[in-house]
Amino acid sequence: MTPLALRVDPGAEPAPVCRLDSPPLSVVARPPEWVAPGLTRKMAAFLATRPATPCLVVDLDVVEANYHALHAALPEAEVYYAVKANPAPPLVARLVGLGARFDTASLPEIDLCLALGADPAHLSFGNTIKKARDIAAAYERGLRLFAFDAEEELRKIAEHAPGSRVFCRILTDNAGAEWPLSRKFGCSPVMARDLMRRAADLGLEPVGLSFHVGSQQTDPSQWDHALALVADLFRGLRADGLEPSLVNLGGGLPTRYGRPVPDVDVYGAGIRAAVARLFEGPAPRLIVEPGRGLVGNAGVLESEVVLVSRKDESEARRWVYLDAGRFNGLAETEGEAIRYPLATDRDGDGTGLGPVVLAGPTCDSVDVLYDRADVRLPLSLRAGDRLRLMSTGAYTTTYASVGFNGFAPLAAHYV
Ligand SMILES: *Cc1c(COP(=O)(O)O)cnc(C)c1O
Repeated sequence: MTPLALRVDPGAEPAPVCRLDSPPLSVVARPPEWVAPGLTRKMAAFLATRPATPCLVVDLDVVEANYHALHAALPEAEVYYAVKANPAPPLVARLVGLGARFDTASLPEIDLCLALGADPAHLSFGNTIKKARDIAAAYERGLRLFAFDAEEELRKIAEHAPGSRVFCRILTDNAGAEWPLSRKFGCSPVMARDLMRRAADLGLEPVGLSFHVGSQQTDPSQWDHALALVADLFRGLRADGLEPSLVNLGGGLPTRYGRPVPDVDVYGAGIRAAVARLFEGPAPRLIVEPGRGLVGNAGVLESEVVLVSRKDESEARRWVYLDAGRFNGLAETEGEAIRYPLATDRDGDGTGLGPVVLAGPTCDSVDVLYDRADVRLPLSLRAGDRLRLMSTGAYTTTYASVGFNGFAPLAAHYV
């Protein structure tokens, strides 16, 4: 890892360490200029240099614009960026500069944020599955906010991060999400109520509850359902003598792929209205943990066509093999759930479009990106052409294998 934002010339004055208590309005703040759907002027300029493929190009000004838009849509909420969506140092550094906080899932993610100047008081250890020694190491680094969804986890936290603030993740049903999270995380509200009391008994501070409505959540009303559950639980917990104050709204904010999604303002307004309607007494402190919604549309993945073929002369559908696939960045095509918009050098060349199966370059038959999705590409497409996958800023670089079949992980450039 090269925390490049912190590298200084040996001869130069050391950069002042700057801890931000209140977010500055902006760091660079030039709004991104979109020149085509999914493509900014900066991305286009970088791609014009014909970088080696496959590669991801991320325009950090888009991340910044998304951050400001979310902050404007939900001004009461503290924004904890879910680092796993894209942990690139330049991206995290930009967010540190903007005053963002960070939802981390592991010790390396914690250390990454700290190395780039984040305040440990602004990090949450949001994974509900943590080794005891990682909890201890996080506590030693100054983290005091931890997630849990089980009694055993609470006991680990009580022993290795004594007195910390904890929040319990509850199960929600994830309807409407294009990338649902199943039942892996969270516990039932009934169990959550018990565990919150247990947390207090163990000397921890049970500050509140969290949920995740499922990633790429295209239905803003899903937060209403989850918030109703949480408001109910708040009443129960108060009756038990606890003082819950924190509502962690999780992630789930969508990015624009092919189909339009509601604007972030719609999500913000819906959440604010639900909180005002459902919660009695003092307004809860809100946390939001965007991953995809903050970085998805900031990236474009440039690939090269390696082969265009047919399985038989009689078949109309061509197979188009790219140098990017399931194993080097495009894991979220699993189940064809996430459908990245595509663009090629030959779009609009007058040859017309024909149906294709789109596949990656490895010798594994699961390395097929889109088969059922009815992808259509120019009939003139051939080996050597470039094909772009838009809105690939989230869940791509780190979802690459270390070198399956000898293909390197996805290269990435931050501009
Ligand atoms: C992954 C994750 C997120 C981010 O989810 P998105 O759908 O990408 O916004 C937020 N919170 C937690 C706890 C997560 O694990």
